Amino acid sequence: MFGPPAVGKGTQASRLAATHGIPHLSTGEMLRAAIAQGSRIGKKAKAIMDKGGLVPDGVVVKIVSERTTEADCAAGFILDGFPRTVGQAKAFDRLLKARKLALDHVIVLEADEAALIKRVENRANETRAAGKPVRSDDDPEVFKKRLKTYKAETAPVLPYYARQGKVRKVDGMKPIDEVTAQIEAALIAPPPGKSWLWRLFFG
Ligand code: ADP
Repeated sequence: MFGPPAVGKGTQASRLAATHGIPHLSTGEMLRAAIAQGSRIGKKAKAIMDKGGLVPDGVVVKIVSERTTEADCAAGFILDGFPRTVGQAKAFDRLLKARKLALDHVIVLEADEAALIKRVENRANETRAAGKPVRSDDDPEVFKKRLKTYKAETAPVLPYYARQGKVRKVDGMKPIDEVTAQIEAALIAPPPGKSWLWRLFFG
């Protein structure tokens, strides 16, 4: 599940996980869990995340590598927020190859920046109004930095996967149910430029 921060990757990934009966693996959630446990990795990650930067590739690749060997991942898994750099994508490809696995799709949720900034502001206000703690990186300035990081370091992952024919784009600005329906349709559609007949024989 790919896209800018706050586009709704987590919401959609957890819906897909429930429908398809496979786990939802969010590297952001895993890092927040490491922070909550007060582990060494967690402490290092917190300083980076609070500034809107990216945790080093080696750290997240190790987390994903270990998590995906657990029994519940045997029938597949949905990644949310990983890979976030071309380095992570290459490391992940090596890992999949070594395990004789393949990535099926890269679902890209698209949205315009102004709408995302508004969305995060609203989310922070609603959470605060409900008396719950707001994510420290949902501060408006940090969020703008996260968007910048996305453009500079994460967006280049898309051409990498487009060359492999894996990318499926979905409009992330539509209502939640509509986005889910678009994703499900994208999962069964043939690769861009390929016909249904092609899929029947080679898909
Ligand atoms: P969002 O997608 O809204 O930015 P996440 O929960 O996915 O939220 O990520 C929160 C933060 O966790 C990121 O800004 C980044 O600092 C860190 N993070 C998550 N996944 C990765 C990753 N794959 N590589 C490096 N840092 C990551």
